[in-house]
Amino acid sequence: MADIIQLLPDHVANQIAAGEVVQRPASVVKELLENAIDAESTEIKLIIKDSGKTLIQVIDNGKGMSVTDARLSFERHATSKIRAAEDLFNLHTKGFRGEALASIAAIAHVELKTKQEQDELGTQIEIEGSDLKAQNVVVTPKGTSLAVKHLFFNIPARRNFLKSNAVELRHIIDEFHRVALAHPSIVFAMYHNGSEIFNLPSSNYRQRVVNIFGGKTNEKLVPVEETTEVLKISGFVGKPEFAKKTKNEQFFFVNNRFIKSPYLNHAINSAFEGLVKDGAHPSYFLNLTVDPKTIDINIHPTKTEIKFDDEHTLYAILRSAVKHSLGQFNIAPVLDFDS
Ligand code: ADP
Ligand code: MG
Repeated sequence: MADIIQLLPDHVANQIAAGEVVQRPASVVKELLENAIDAESTEIKLIIKDSGKTLIQVIDNGKGMSVTDARLSFERHATSKIRAAEDLFNLHTKGFRGEALASIAAIAHVELKTKQEQDELGTQIEIEGSDLKAQNVVVTPKGTSLAVKHLFFNIPARRNFLKSNAVELRHIIDEFHRVALAHPSIVFAMYHNGSEIFNLPSSNYRQRVVNIFGGKTNEKLVPVEETTEVLKISGFVGKPEFAKKTKNEQFFFVNNRFIKSPYLNHAINSAFEGLVKDGAHPSYFLNLTVDPKTIDINIHPTKTEIKFDDEHTLYAILRSAVKHSLGQFNIAPVLDFDS
């Protein structure tokens, strides 16, 4: 019998990984913003054209990359963020899979410009569908700019599957909100087709929520604070009368990472029981801090789901903290902006 198994070439493996990591332009936005945050940037700019279909660019003022790292960053499983398997259970960065840039470069035209503080000159790299097209020395400010053009240029099925510009823009803005909310001290700006959509100054959490969701949000926020041995909660829920028909003001962050959790969402709904009408969704902006050893983030490539060691306990603490805050707000005066 002849042997028939072969190792797939890298560009094929990258394209397969890309299928999981990059569903739409918003997925690229998420990965690039997270890389900018992991690079300890204090200012991050997102520029998109045609809802990301023709351009997604993230410019940061973070630590940049050396010449060698700039090239390596596009290799699969190449990461500066973890070194050993045990690091997976002690994560302090958004990234760790070392897959995003390799995946994105497999299905788009990518231009990277990056420079570290101590270097006079930076590095520019162009890649199209995993093929290196150019690598040059370039004059560029400290930090990194990554421009992604013609997403899915070599995967027509994915390109055709994209929704209208309005829908894709909505997804991008959702990702932008999530990242900007998780990092209120970082300055963020977003431009679409040349117009500024967001310009968020460095601020505290309340101000960041208000800057994103509008001035009227301030009066509806009820602070939630709780510290226990296993869980620290801080953030806000919306007063019951402001509950919405949509779920787009519902945010959980676990160790500064946006996550979806139907189970914990249930804890909030249960705390609001009897206070909101059926079918109305309370707003919440809640930061949960847990020991990184008690969670597993590596259960899905997009990292928006988490496995908790003891989610029943978290559920109970969360529900009781929210109930307590809602009870207090009935008797407490409206809190001022800086609290
Ligand atoms: P991961 O974030 O999981 O490590 P990525 O493919 O997103 O994988 O990035 C690969 C590597 O490239 C990162 O580990 C980091 O060292 C480097 N890198 C990516 N983006 C930036 C950036 N904006 N600034 C500095 N380094 C970056
Ligand atoms: Mg990354």
